[in-house]
Amino acid sequence: MSPRGWALLTLVGLAVVLLVAGAVLIPWHRPPAPRADQLAALRSLPVDQVARGRAFHAALRPGGYGALALGLAVALLLGLTPLGSRLVELAGRPFGGHWTARAVLGGLAVMLLADLLTLPFAAWRQTVLTRYGLSTQGWGGWAVDLLKSYAVSAVIGGLALLGFYTVVRLAPRWWWAFGAAGAAGLVVLLSFVLPVLVEPVFNRFTPMEPGPLRTELTSLAARDGVPVRDVLVADASRRTRAVNAYVSGLGPTRRVVVYDTLLREATPAEVTSVVAHELGHAKDRDVWVGTLTGALGAALAVVALYLIGSWAPLLRLAGVDSVAEPRAFPLLIALVTVVGLLAAPVQALVSRRVEARADAHALALTGDPATFEAMQRRLAGVNLADPDPPRWEYLWSASHPSTVERMAAARAYARESGR
Ligand SMILES: [Zn+2]
Repeated sequence: MSPRGWALLTLVGLAVVLLVAGAVLIPWHRPPAPRADQLAALRSLPVDQVARGRAFHAALRPGGYGALALGLAVALLLGLTPLGSRLVELAGRPFGGHWTARAVLGGLAVMLLADLLTLPFAAWRQTVLTRYGLSTQGWGGWAVDLLKSYAVSAVIGGLALLGFYTVVRLAPRWWWAFGAAGAAGLVVLLSFVLPVLVEPVFNRFTPMEPGPLRTELTSLAARDGVPVRDVLVADASRRTRAVNAYVSGLGPTRRVVVYDTLLREATPAEVTSVVAHELGHAKDRDVWVGTLTGALGAALAVVALYLIGSWAPLLRLAGVDSVAEPRAFPLLIALVTVVGLLAAPVQALVSRRVEARADAHALALTGDPATFEAMQRRLAGVNLADPDPPRWEYLWSASHPSTVERMAAARAYARESGR
């Protein structure tokens, strides 16, 4: 069988594994609470809070979708016309067109161009966050954050580009197989190292101070049977007034992180409720599942790019001879951008189901739906959430159930458990 035949077989195999993993590991059977309960929850929220959340999101929308549209247009223009391949050539020219310069500098130039062109939209977003009092950062801090994120992307992207095009040169016929394995390995590696190597670039993390809350959280984790080495506090207040918590890392790098803003704004019982939700993620191994499906998806993407990329009309549009040359990188980015947009609603749906399971875990672990609901109110109020966002936006991009869905879930739990 030819490499192409093997690639097709691998593609089908990976797709089947991904679908089975998705069917088995994602909690699909968890419908949102009845709409009537959601509407009752919405009516119980202060009218001005709801209006302010909606006004805030209406103000963000033009910039958000503008950036999305411009990013897509730039990716398509660079990938489906010879412009992108010329940009890669140009980046390699000072180095005599050497392939490493084309691969790394050319690749980074393609990625950076879209970022630079959408920069005005990012700045616009920052003015909205400032106007609504959510950002605590001046333009200096904002610019430093931006430069840091460019630097992190350049290091990770540069290493990935160098690795990928080295494999392409060493194995011209089978690069897609090594590339798929490498992409999957990179996803797993990043899950391990991001919390210890990248997150500290943006925030300081300190162990939560000893006291009644820390004792309560540690005993909650022990009661839950979830080994958590430490609860860390992030200095999010240097950037935002928003409150949040999350769990990241795998094995030795796993940690539960709460924003310092959460400790300042919420009652200890509400913080406990938030951490109980994060423990749900740890208990159900959501980071593992996310990493595994991400790795499978990355491998699938590499094989698919190899197969689609040998389609002559596409190569002609991009003005390249083969998808494997660095000059074809803009074409790969264009394809990845389009697939990413199409996959967004699926990813959002999966994320919402996983988040709803973590909510159910928090309710069962604390047995305190009243505090859970109070915490949702506070989260929505402080973070200027739209408690019941427009349906199309929710389906397109919401990573979490809406505030009214989460409040209604707490009410349903209270009814069923008689609390
Ligand atoms: Zn969560």
